[in-house]
Amino acid sequence: MPNIDVSGLVTREVKYGENSRILTVLGKDSGKVSILASRARTNRSGLLTATQLFAYSDFTLFKGRDGSLFKLNEGEAVSTFPNIRNSLEKMAYASYFCDVVNQICREGSEENELLALILNMLYLLDRDDCTAEKAVKIRAVFQFRALAAAGFAPDCDGCAECGDGAVRYFSRSGGVFYCEKCSENGNALSEVNQGIFNAIKYIITSDSKKIMAFSLSDTAMKYLADIGEEFMRIQLEHDFKTLDYLKNVIALG
Ligand SMILES: [Zn+2]
Repeated sequence: MPNIDVSGLVTREVKYGENSRILTVLGKDSGKVSILASRARTNRSGLLTATQLFAYSDFTLFKGRDGSLFKLNEGEAVSTFPNIRNSLEKMAYASYFCDVVNQICREGSEENELLALILNMLYLLDRDDCTAEKAVKIRAVFQFRALAAAGFAPDCDGCAECGDGAVRYFSRSGGVFYCEKCSENGNALSEVNQGIFNAIKYIITSDSKKIMAFSLSDTAMKYLADIGEEFMRIQLEHDFKTLDYLKNVIALG
């Protein structure tokens, strides 16, 4: 079997037997891949950095004769996001983002849009000037954009019933907006103002390089992140334990 080169982000690691780990890697062009990393190999070749959680690395893999799992041959870290590793809060954000990506992605399908998104968010999180407020914005952007990549983009063409541009409610179950008089048609409604509506529309339609170029007050940004969180929970039908953990870490300050 020839070697296979994969560049990707380590989004999960699980202990396997006494001496090994199974890594989940979101690879460029390859999507989600499971990789068996034996301790003998990672210790001997100094691969611990390349195989740690949240590392983006170039891997060389091979497939054993026996099984379906890829095995790690070589690896070199491209980016390890050191500031994330130095902060409990940033680690909690990164864990949540990886959890979401692992939930959305299926093995065997290319997921370059989600990979680019999470790398962009980790890069912003890793910056020295990433404050607690900026992290809330990163979470808000990540949630809506990840859902859009997964096919759950909110419909931002005004009121879903009458088309009026003056929307007042967002349906977290339907992914649509309603004006005041049509709101009785919607379920799981969150009240929104024009600023929140514009922000959601901006997040799902903007060029990825300009994705952070919008502003809201800190209170509105938190509200937006909370709507996104609930929208995600309903659309993916999944509760993220890493989100509960993130909230606990934030509460501890
Ligand atoms: Zn209406």
